[in-house]
Amino acid sequence: MSKPVCYSTKAFGTSSASAPLGATTIDRRMPAASDIQIQILYCGVCHSDLHFSRNEWGFTQYPAVPGHEIVGRVTAVGSGVTKFKVGDTVGVGCLVDSCRTCPDCRQGLEQFCNGMVMTYGSMDQHLDRPTLGGYAQSIVVTEDFVLRIPANLNLAAVAPLLCAGITTYSPMRHWKVGAGQKVGIVGLGGLGHMGVKFARAFGAHVVLFTTSPGKIDDAKRLGAHEVVVSKDEAQMQTHAGSFDFILDAVSATHDINAYLNLLKHDGNLVLVGAPEKPLPVAAFPLIFRRRSFSGSLIGGLPETQEMLDFCAAHNITSEIEMIRMDQINEAYERMLKSDVKYRFVIDMASLS
Ligand code: NAP
Ligand code: ZN
Ligand code: ZN
Repeated sequence: MSKPVCYSTKAFGTSSASAPLGATTIDRRMPAASDIQIQILYCGVCHSDLHFSRNEWGFTQYPAVPGHEIVGRVTAVGSGVTKFKVGDTVGVGCLVDSCRTCPDCRQGLEQFCNGMVMTYGSMDQHLDRPTLGGYAQSIVVTEDFVLRIPANLNLAAVAPLLCAGITTYSPMRHWKVGAGQKVGIVGLGGLGHMGVKFARAFGAHVVLFTTSPGKIDDAKRLGAHEVVVSKDEAQMQTHAGSFDFILDAVSATHDINAYLNLLKHDGNLVLVGAPEKPLPVAAFPLIFRRRSFSGSLIGGLPETQEMLDFCAAHNITSEIEMIRMDQINEAYERMLKSDVKYRFVIDMASLS
């Protein structure tokens, strides 16, 4: 296949695991028949962007441009595009394509497709280099992987829904979190604070676990009925054997067994956090009470749209701190100190 015609756009990326992010210029393909060209207005900052930039998962290829919580405006559409027009407000999350034919794709579970193309760090079939993400002024995406953004929501505060939102919404829908259940959320960061909001909206009794005592009041304001400081062994013990479901959204090494012990019989601990190193799991907390330990990866396109529409109906968005593009390295350092309230969002106008 011959390389498509390209145009240049300003971006922010890095050339090695140890280098800070800095200004760069990247190529995007000119929109083909089914493509949409988007001027990026806001991009959320996910902890995955940091893991990826620093090659903590071991598969980053450089130069790398992170960013997969993209909200923007359509600036051009290909001749075959039917779902969007110039001027529409749209979103792009962690996926920009998939094989479209496998059983997972046919069920709208594109995140499990062997041929899924992630917004950054996958092979770009068009340009024969890794895909480059949303820390940029513009992106081109096939229309089937573009989401409609509900008109009533604050655009900057919608951006984090595209990853933090769907990653917490999807497992709670899959395992049917709802009224009458006691649900734990571990870690009040970007994912965790969305988890609190969704669990509350689904009608559960919500308990937030945090290592940061300074976040207790915020957690309650965001929807937690109770807050437990996880370093306090006595507080943890009062909840032993009592949870139906726990969502673990922690980005670093921590003791997973302490949370398995808090589940009822047949309770489920779902890991969405993706720490760099393996987490040891002891046999006894699992085999006693027939507990489950599981994981979940973002969500497919239909469910992501469903989540956005749910947020519009329930007036749910992320709590954000807006930053300029050139503050990204400082934002990463604050993220490592658990000092995010509760998602950084880049104002992409600051890149021009
Ligand atoms: P984040 O905003 O940095 O939040 C992580 C939170 O974890 C922190 O705010 C902190 O909450 C807690 N934490 C941090 N270090 C800890 C430690 N050493 N021990 C215990 N708790 C600690 O990160 P995020 O963007 O929400 O992402 C969380 C994780 O999910 C990352 O690993 C990310 O890569 C992963 N992720 C996975 C998916 C998926 O599809 N599965 C999607 C997106 C992101 P407290 O201050 O409340 O303790
Ligand atoms: Zn993410
Ligand atoms: Zn597929």
